[in-house]
Amino acid sequence: MNGAPTLDELVPPDRTLMGPGPSDVHPRVLRSMATPLVGYLDDYCVEIMDDIQEGLRYLFQTDNEHTLAISGTGSAAMETAFANLVEPGETVLVPDNGYFGARMGEIAERAGGEVRTVSAPWGEPLDPAAVEDAFAEHSPAVFGFVHGETSTGVRQTDVSELTRIAHENDAYAIADTVASLGGVEFRTDEWDVDVVYSGSQKCLSAPPGASPITFNDRAMEKVHARETPVRSWYLDLEGIWEYWSDERNYHHTGPISTMYALREALRLVSEEGLEETWERHERVAGALKRGVEAMGIGLNTADEYWLPTLNPVGVPAGVDDGRVIDRLLEEHGIEIVGGLGALEGEIFRVGCMGHSARPANVSQFVSAFGSVLTGEGADVDLEAGAGATANTLGSQ
Ligand SMILES: *Cc1c(COP(=O)(O)O)cnc(C)c1O
Repeated sequence: MNGAPTLDELVPPDRTLMGPGPSDVHPRVLRSMATPLVGYLDDYCVEIMDDIQEGLRYLFQTDNEHTLAISGTGSAAMETAFANLVEPGETVLVPDNGYFGARMGEIAERAGGEVRTVSAPWGEPLDPAAVEDAFAEHSPAVFGFVHGETSTGVRQTDVSELTRIAHENDAYAIADTVASLGGVEFRTDEWDVDVVYSGSQKCLSAPPGASPITFNDRAMEKVHARETPVRSWYLDLEGIWEYWSDERNYHHTGPISTMYALREALRLVSEEGLEETWERHERVAGALKRGVEAMGIGLNTADEYWLPTLNPVGVPAGVDDGRVIDRLLEEHGIEIVGGLGALEGEIFRVGCMGHSARPANVSQFVSAFGSVLTGEGADVDLEAGAGATANTLGSQ
């Protein structure tokens, strides 16, 4: 019998989202999603889209005209970048030091690219010298790199150095900022990045489904000059731009509720101030970092490329990481995840992004983490950890 759903079915468990995304959604963003729908060409919808484009230019720190939100998650934005910029037969250079660099390679290959990799160990960023060598060896037309690699918790430093190398070699640079934009400093124009994309459910405190992307004029000239059509109809920028430009022609139905959410999320960034947002992530994640370090556990990354939005916390000796993750979720309602690939069983991945980057969340996490680890027999200093987090938060 199909009865009315009971309350339990309608109310999800209470979670604190401290994994690699989604992060906690801001209540104002949640409320915006209950806004009544309008048609995708309604003047009201057009206003929403204008606001989104303006908010995204601020977020990306760009004047690029071609700045918009892709209907889909971060991977759809990733695919838009490569599908439009890469023509079949062109060489594409991607990193091999993390999970999302590998995804870039898979996507570039589907776009018809000949994929080559530039290496760095998992847990370290690309070294510009290695990128320079890879350009000399492979002469790629397109070079993708990951600004915040979520699988390792590494921030790619020297971004303007990487784009300088690409441009000196007449290539285009694509940056993945899905786990960093709005959480960590990124300057599209100043750092001269041709295409940058992101996601909504990580540092932007919004649900997944509307993903920021920006193309500079140089990249757009390459897109306009393509000899072959983009292999994806849905993600073909020329078609999508018909809807986002002043023409406002139908291409596909704009995901209006998700656009309401993204607009509200971007307003939150503007109200707080972008630099203040970066500063908050660094301060709050810094309290998390000092807490676990005071407990006696290291982060699997050097301070110079620490990524505040994703902390690779070491798994103490003798501890089963899966049990800790399960207990945090079941007993404390806190979601974190384990390591991927080469780092499986070596690290916990603890996110600190968007509305999850709050003092309450990190205090709760550090105490619960210490308590579960102690329960699992790990030799950690629970009180020193919670104390260090509290002191760091209090002293700022
Ligand atoms: C999450 C993530 C993606 C993929 O985004 P989805 O929203 O899961 O499709 C791509 N790159 C990085 C660095 C990410 O963290």
